[in-house]
Amino acid sequence: MSEPIIIVGGGPVGATLALLLAQRGVAVTVLEARQQGAAYGEGRALALSHGSRRILEKLGVWNKLAPHATAIHTIHVSQKGSIGRSKLYASDYMQEALGYVLSYGALSEALALALTEKPTVNFIFEAIAEAITHSGSQASVSYSQAGETYTITSPLVVLADGGRSLDALFGLARETKEYGHDALISKVRAELPHHNIAYERFTPNGPMALLPNGERDFSLVWTGKKEYITPLLALSDAEFLTQFHQQFGDRVGRFLSVEKRMAFPLKLSQLKATDTPHLVVIGNAAQTMHPVAGQGFNVGLRDAESLAQLVVASSATALGTASMLDAYRASRKNDTKGGLFFTDFLVNIFSNDVVGASGLRSVGLGLFDIIKPIKQHLVSKMSFGK
Ligand SMILES: Cc1cc2nc3c(=O)[nH]c(=O)nc-3n(C[C@H](O)[C@H](O)[C@H](O)COP(=O)(O)OP(=O)(O)OC[C@H]3O[C@@H](n4cnc5c(N)ncnc54)[C@H](O)[C@@H]3O)c2cc1C
Repeated sequence: MSEPIIIVGGGPVGATLALLLAQRGVAVTVLEARQQGAAYGEGRALALSHGSRRILEKLGVWNKLAPHATAIHTIHVSQKGSIGRSKLYASDYMQEALGYVLSYGALSEALALALTEKPTVNFIFEAIAEAITHSGSQASVSYSQAGETYTITSPLVVLADGGRSLDALFGLARETKEYGHDALISKVRAELPHHNIAYERFTPNGPMALLPNGERDFSLVWTGKKEYITPLLALSDAEFLTQFHQQFGDRVGRFLSVEKRMAFPLKLSQLKATDTPHLVVIGNAAQTMHPVAGQGFNVGLRDAESLAQLVVASSATALGTASMLDAYRASRKNDTKGGLFFTDFLVNIFSNDVVGASGLRSVGLGLFDIIKPIKQHLVSKMSFGK
């Protein structure tokens, strides 16, 4: 094969792609803006589906991660001010778990460790990609590192920067819907054990999720309008826990402690058009979802898996050609649209406090609890995304 494939962004999705390719003997160069180890301390929780676990197992990474992962055996869905609620049990679907909760840092560290053992991977830290251009059968990436600028070329460049930096590239167009909501994230400890139950709760202000994380703790995602969320950041821990308890209810008793709180804006974003030869966009850079159903990262991992399969099946001359990129986009279309539609649907149906809608939603949750095929669909969507 010609020059190594270039991956811009060594976050969880870019690093997984690098490993998948290295496992099949494909040479890659990864450009990562952060210092080595900078992400290891990130406590932000990711909800991993069963399908994502399988991908990490195949890469030999899961056995190192398993001690840091908390299994979700039950998902409890409820709505504030309504008696309707629904429960999904892993055992009903003959699954060991409906998903797993893992910190971003633990996953980053395990992936980085596995990558150091791959001689065909050149992982360059503190390398900030600044421009991607193309000419003829190549794309070029210019990046800066320690005050110097370099340019490297490849028939295939993969943009996996999380949509954080290079979103204004020529030929890329995104469709974005700002929810006008922020997500507050933190970790809380409750009085009662979690029993591996993940809670999704819909309130008139927006959805919240409590994901079991570790022996006693929960990772919290609390969403709402910016003007609702911002003051929550400034409360004392005790005031914050009282307010949270009021919204969440008594299911796990009182809340005893909360870690550092931070918030960021939520949006739905997807690629509308790409006219960028020799460039493919994956992970959060390609689609950003509301975190309500923990879909984003799992869709990104499946992007990486599909692309790796296609690269391995392509001849050297086909790499990065329009037909290869079309085949990749076609392979991802339904899964991506499904994830975006599903999360947007949940946000819309449960978050608008329209008069009368609350009663309907309550009935909806009750029905949902008894109509098996709907639950089956939801479980397979959350577990495998297919
Ligand atoms: C509040 C919140 C909660 C979430 N909860 C969940 C959840 O429960 N479950 C779930 O599945 N998903 C969740 N997500 C989504 C999840 O965080 C993302 O899907 C995931 O991080 C995407 O990984 P990525 O590798 O594509 O991007 P990122 O994690 O953003 O990584 C991108 C990498 O690219 C690097 N980079 C950026 N620009 C450059 C550049 N110019 N040059 C070189 N390197 C660069 C960055 O340093 C970074 O390392 C959540 C998101 C939010 C906002």
